[in-house]
This record gives sequence, C-alpha cells and structure tokens, in this order.
Amino acid sequence: MEITVIGCWGAYPEKNEATSGYLVECGDSTILLDCGSGVLSRLQNHCPLEKLDAVVITHTDADHIADIYSLEFATLILMQTGKRLKPLDVYVYEEDLSGLPFRFPDFVRVHRVQIGEAFTVGQVRLEVAETVHETPCCAVRMTSPDGKTFVYSGDTGWCQSIIDISRSADLLLLESSFYDWQKGIMSGHLTAGEAGEIAALAGAKQVVLTHFPHYGELNQLLEEASRNYQGQIQLAYGGMKLII
Ligand SMILES: [Zn+2]
Repeated sequence: MEITVIGCWGAYPEKNEATSGYLVECGDSTILLDCGSGVLSRLQNHCPLEKLDAVVITHTDADHIADIYSLEFATLILMQTGKRLKPLDVYVYEEDLSGLPFRFPDFVRVHRVQIGEAFTVGQVRLEVAETVHETPCCAVRMTSPDGKTFVYSGDTGWCQSIIDISRSADLLLLESSFYDWQKGIMSGHLTAGEAGEIAALAGAKQVVLTHFPHYGELNQLLEEASRNYQGQIQLAYGGMKLII
C-alpha cells in the first residue's frame, strides 16, 4: 500500500498547498481520502483523475470536502470525452446525503458510510469509527490483501474509538491540530501530546502527524507528540510518500 500526502493543512491551504487529501494506491485500486480545498489540483501531480476508483469523505467540513464538487465536474467531462470509463464512487460519512449538492448521479455514485458496515474498493477493505468532532466525522481503517493496515483519523478529539480503530496499525495518520499549550481549547481536535498518547495506547507501528495549525513552529508538534510515543513519528508534507 502506498500513501501520498496531497495536503496536510487544517482549515485552509497555505500558498500552493492543500487541506486534507491523501491518495492511497494498493494493487489496482486508487482511493482518495478526503478532498479538501486545493486537493484536486495537487492530486494531478500524482494520479490522473480518470484513474481514481473512489473517494472517502470523513466529514463535510470544507477543509475535507470543498473540492469534491469540482471533482464531480471533472468526472462528468472525463466520461463524456471517453477518457474515463466508469462512474466515480464517493463514500461520505453523513446521515442525510440528500443535503449535499452533488448533481450528476450518472457520473458520481454517492454512498453513505456507516459504522459497523465495512466495505471494499477493489481488494482494499475499509471500516470506519465515529470520532469526536463538531461535525459528525469518522476515522478510516484500510486493510490491504496482504494484511497491512493504514488508519487515517479524520478530525478527532480525544476518544476511545480512535484508539480502538488504530490498534496495531502499520501506519497511523493522525490529526494534530493544536500545540500542548492549547489543550482544552476545543474538544474536536487533538493536541500533539494527545496524538502521541493515542499512538502509544493503540500500539501503532509508525505515525505521521497531519492537519496542521497555521501558526507556531510545526516541529514543536513533533517534539510534543514524541514525548508520549517512542516509535517512528514524522510530520506530513505535501508530496510525502509512505509505503507499508
Ligand atoms: Zn479539518
């Protein structure tokens, strides 16, 4: 399984960068996790849009979904011009899909993601768990046919479900929106120290921090998380590639 970080910023993208978007390639399957602002443009540095099999949206905040409607237009045009042969499957963690402004059901098939209902894209198995966030949000665990596991937290505050779904993950991509001095400021995001603690409790084999704040020194996030987690830990960056 190969994971490429398309964007790693919370809230809005820094110049020439993107908010949440992570490309996962496994065998013949190509899956995008979240499609925030700036993702659609930067994604094309790594994957032609016609190759994308599915998109999973962890929640409907703009920094995770903003570019999906442009991707819907891209899919329409790529299919009309014969470059793309099949509709795009979009899986969204959202109670009421009818409230989302998708427009072309013949080209984009929107599916509701539900707790306790695993689904597959090609040979990749996906399951989700609800996290603690202001907007209903899920974390995603992906398992390859050879048993490798990749977990992406989505947005989350401290909760048991993120520890449980991250159990023994080969790679845990974990949000780290705040510095330790901000602990308690918002319940729906993690401080770096909490991220390190969750990684340790879950027994994750490797951790990448993401969903960054636009202030402070990001290396401080790494230091704060490392105090609580002894394994390999890195900061995400646009274009980063990880293989498990
Ligand atoms: Zn976010």
